[in-house]
Amino acid sequence: MKEKQHPNYLCVHAGQLKDTIYGGATAPIYTSTAYDYRGEGTNLYPRYFNTPNQVALGKKMAALEHTEAGMIFGSGMAAISAVFLAFLKTGDHIILQRAIYGGTSHFVAAEFEKLGIEFTMIEHVNKESLQTALKSSTKMVYMETPSNPLLEVTDMTLVSAFAKANSLTSVIDNTFASPINQNPADFGIDIIIHSATKYLGGHSDICAGTVSCSQQHMDQLWKTAKNYGGSLSDQTVYLLERSIKTLGLRVKQQSKTAKKIARFLEKHPDIKKVNYPGLKSHPQYTLAKKQMKAYGGMMSFELEDHINETLFLELLEVIFPALSLAGVESTILAPTTTSHSLLTPEERKEQGISDRLLRFSVGIEEASILIADLENAINNSRSK
Ligand SMILES: *Cc1c(COP(=O)(O)O)cnc(C)c1O
Repeated sequence: MKEKQHPNYLCVHAGQLKDTIYGGATAPIYTSTAYDYRGEGTNLYPRYFNTPNQVALGKKMAALEHTEAGMIFGSGMAAISAVFLAFLKTGDHIILQRAIYGGTSHFVAAEFEKLGIEFTMIEHVNKESLQTALKSSTKMVYMETPSNPLLEVTDMTLVSAFAKANSLTSVIDNTFASPINQNPADFGIDIIIHSATKYLGGHSDICAGTVSCSQQHMDQLWKTAKNYGGSLSDQTVYLLERSIKTLGLRVKQQSKTAKKIARFLEKHPDIKKVNYPGLKSHPQYTLAKKQMKAYGGMMSFELEDHINETLFLELLEVIFPALSLAGVESTILAPTTTSHSLLTPEERKEQGISDRLLRFSVGIEEASILIADLENAINNSRSK
């Protein structure tokens, strides 16, 4: 039945564990770390990612990302590092987009050399840049779209075609879009990763990660992942499953509100620039429209020079200056002093990250309240 493919249906029902004893509406939580080994099938153990709650949520993530299999990790970085370590070995080469999550580029810079894995980071992802970076030892392409913090959009059809033509594994970090707004598997991408700490958790109180892919890729990932031991406790798996039930509703509201706010900021004389894939002025608007169902709750913008940024942030009463993103509450941060502070000023400039850039994660509050908050802060932070 077609309705049963609807994301809101999948968010609530896909993979749901039944309470067969008491008939409760929600899933029971199985907290055991010791299971009777004489039963059928595999030995159950939390670090093997195969306890009932872990498996059930993996099925939900597979359904939401249109893949055969899904697995839940203790953090987004646990998922990302397991994917790297499962599909790359000493002597291999990987092509990454430069504008990726700070923690991921940090992992690449700090760990790959030790492991003897070569990497090339490319500025703008297109046929030429991919072809130029390609080596005989290349095994993987790794991208993030839309990217953090500039919301650059990468052509997933191009990336998957390039990967297939050269027998590479293609990986997308789909955290910013969430499975509600974008499904990379539909564009031929092999492995889809989420930091579930963001939209999937959605309430700024869970740290987790997910991977969705084919069963074949999952079998290979599992063999490595269980050795590194980055699984998530069943109590938190349950909390994450509970959060995902409202993912579709939250992301729909956040996307709608963000579009209104992006339009408001774009027209505002005290705002220099707005980066939001749902604006016609976005350089990859047409591509975003093709790949995304809605444009999400993330944007970034720059204040005009006559606005005192410190004062502007201080004057916000609803929007909360905080690290991390994608919660039900609106948050804002300056990447230069937070998420991208490990980059040198030159590196930030190369990537187009201005010192005055602000990254805004739109929550589920009414657009009118958020716009009033921004308006008030702008009006009272102009330097005389
Ligand atoms: C936060 C984030 C990560 C890392 O996730 P953790 O849960 O913090 O380990 C990876 N990718 C993106 C795009 C993120 O925003």
